[in-house]
Amino acid sequence: MLVKSRRSFRTFSIVKKRGLVVVLLCLLTIHLLGQSQLAQVTVLRPARVFDGDAAHDNWVVVVRGEKITSVGPPTSANVPPGARSIDLPDMTLLPGLIEAHSHVLLHPYSETSWNDQVAHEPLALRVARATNHLRNTLLAGFTTIRDLGTEGAGYSDVGLRDAVSQNIIPGPRMLVVTRAIVATGSYAPKGYAPEWRVPQGAEEADGVDSLIRVVRDQIGKGADWIKVYADYSWGPNGEAEPTFSLDELKLIVETAKSSGRAVAAHASTPEGMRRAALAGVETIEHGDRGTAEVFRLMKERNVALCPTLTASLTVYSRNLDAKRASFRAALDAGVTIASGSDSGVFAHGENARELEAMVDFGMPALDALRSATSINARVLHMENRIGRVKEGLLADLIAVEGDLTRDISGTRRVRFVMKGGTIFRNVR
Ligand SMILES: [Zn+2]
Repeated sequence: MLVKSRRSFRTFSIVKKRGLVVVLLCLLTIHLLGQSQLAQVTVLRPARVFDGDAAHDNWVVVVRGEKITSVGPPTSANVPPGARSIDLPDMTLLPGLIEAHSHVLLHPYSETSWNDQVAHEPLALRVARATNHLRNTLLAGFTTIRDLGTEGAGYSDVGLRDAVSQNIIPGPRMLVVTRAIVATGSYAPKGYAPEWRVPQGAEEADGVDSLIRVVRDQIGKGADWIKVYADYSWGPNGEAEPTFSLDELKLIVETAKSSGRAVAAHASTPEGMRRAALAGVETIEHGDRGTAEVFRLMKERNVALCPTLTASLTVYSRNLDAKRASFRAALDAGVTIASGSDSGVFAHGENARELEAMVDFGMPALDALRSATSINARVLHMENRIGRVKEGLLADLIAVEGDLTRDISGTRRVRFVMKGGTIFRNVR
């Protein structure tokens, strides 16, 4: 009995193995057919291409599946027969724009104050609103955002990021920081009786143990970057003053870095910026009172400035001349400028105002375009995937009316949006 059953088992397993081989061959054939025939090939034919660095007239761009496979003049680009052709006459095609500083869980302060959003709006309402913000941002041509803090909305940026990447809702690719880190007593909402313990718009932490734990906890909950407030308006008269010590900032950077993550620091005072730069953060947000000396230090330490000019123009319009002068000083020092607007304090979908503002504040249009594409991709460590119209990169491509290199306001007139080879907008 034992021998017989063994033999029959052997026979069964040979039949089973052969069957498996046939199934595997079938799957392989289907896979290869899929690769060669099913992946949609599209040729985009705009009037010109800004490739993340320079503009080229009459180039075409070939997209297969989610990637760019060929770029160049029609005579040299590799266009397979039977490809779908999309004409984009009089338009400039460029890499999907990258927003380096957004808050999709905030809506304009002109509608509702920050305090009231944080204290009175239920989380589900804020998340529901954020899904609209993400769609508006994508349709405005921004295919990637770094969202710099949920401002009281916990870790919901992680879920939103994943909802976009799983195609549950339309939106840009997201890098998120979750709650952001503030020194105890420095942040907001404030002004309550000291007996009350009021939940804050970011996570408080101080000193060795608490900072290490909070950085690691935010990473564990899904943070792609760590955001820290190196200064905040907590001076004796409500003015901005530094928060964390240099050693605390170094500890935050070291802890984040050992997990492969970078740190962004909110800082507007020269001393807050100086400590952040010395500690090894990779981007400084706002930098409103940056001096020539501090910008030289940033240049030396390869720290990028994310100037959030639109926030200055729309919300904090008191010191525009000073902001203009400090932006000019950053340009003169040769600091890398990462285009980021602080969208959320003004309407999502109007992110391109930052490019206009950069040009208005003295940056050449081509530099502003580079900042929001290839430079932001590099600052965000994503240059191998996005930021250029280049063979092998993801097909994050947008087209806008007119010649962008002459008129930056074209970034407000987006007619075509493709993200990862999928078309989200095509108005012609
Ligand atoms: Zn911000």
